[in-house]
Amino acid sequence: KVKQIAIYGKGGIGKSTTTSNISAALSKLGYKVMQFGCDPKSDSTNTLRNGEYIPTVLDTLRERAAVKANDVIFEGFNGVYCVEAGGPAPGVGCAGRGIITAVQLFKQQHVFEDLDLDIVIYDVLGDVVCGGFAVPIREGIAEHVFTVSSADFMSVYASNNLFKGIHKYSTSGGALLGGIIANSINQPYAKNIIDDFATRTGTKIMQYVPRSVTVTQSELQGKTTIEAAPDSAQAGIYTELAERIAEHDKSDIPNPMDTVTLRQWASDWGNQLLELETGVIAGGAKAGI
Ligand code: ADP
Ligand code: SF4
Ligand code: MG
Repeated sequence: KVKQIAIYGKGGIGKSTTTSNISAALSKLGYKVMQFGCDPKSDSTNTLRNGEYIPTVLDTLRERAAVKANDVIFEGFNGVYCVEAGGPAPGVGCAGRGIITAVQLFKQQHVFEDLDLDIVIYDVLGDVVCGGFAVPIREGIAEHVFTVSSADFMSVYASNNLFKGIHKYSTSGGALLGGIIANSINQPYAKNIIDDFATRTGTKIMQYVPRSVTVTQSELQGKTTIEAAPDSAQAGIYTELAERIAEHDKSDIPNPMDTVTLRQWASDWGNQLLELETGVIAGGAKAGI
């Protein structure tokens, strides 16, 4: 049975970069993978195809009456199947509906079974947890949800909102939370913040991914780090994450914080960082900042 997972997170946090590296790493581990971009920006699969953009499902449906799934599936690095759901014409319609339309097309044509896929990864825009973008969770399309989050408050805030969405749909057969992919974690304080957020919301960290110039360099070449720098430490980190995701089979209902609690939690961390910083400036021995 094909394993369907969804990756959410604040815009610009590193969802597509992380997802593409996971897909590339999974393909190298021998899995048959499809990466399904569900962001109206349609740039999810870019680095799997040497920086080339592919026609989206919605654009193709607008151009022709009969669309075969094969018309919108493109081969990427090491045989990874790439799809971009696309979005409505700017200012018109619901972007989330594009996800339903695209997935329905694939289901009708039995694409997931016919391609004999092991894993489908949906890369979903996640700061708007509206009905539209909740589709992969709500409609039982994905089984496991992961969030990409840094230790920045707005990123944690977006993840907490996602947890509220997962919590809400969990009673009606929605997808459950697999864990947090902690991105851009270079400093001990960042690790402490994201660890504490995971503990408070009853989830776990799947991997700590540092911010790395290797990723920047690979992206500039239009490639994933798995492709551009396979022997780098960063590629090793993505491969380990891919293995954990491939083996992951038990997700849970998270415990999101309510807005007031989250705000208080953030201020407490703000005070702690201030103390640390003051300690460092005063020549104190405390590390972590
Ligand atoms: P999203 O899909 O969440 O909107 P992207 O994956 O497009 O975000 O990433 C936004 C930018 O951040 C990209 O330029 C990407 O290369 C960069 N980025 C993401 N993660 C890392 C990382 N670990 N190290 C360096 N750059 C990163
Ligand atoms: Fe946009 Fe979401 Fe509303 Fe759809 S449901 S129109 S994607 S905000
Ligand atoms: Mg993206």
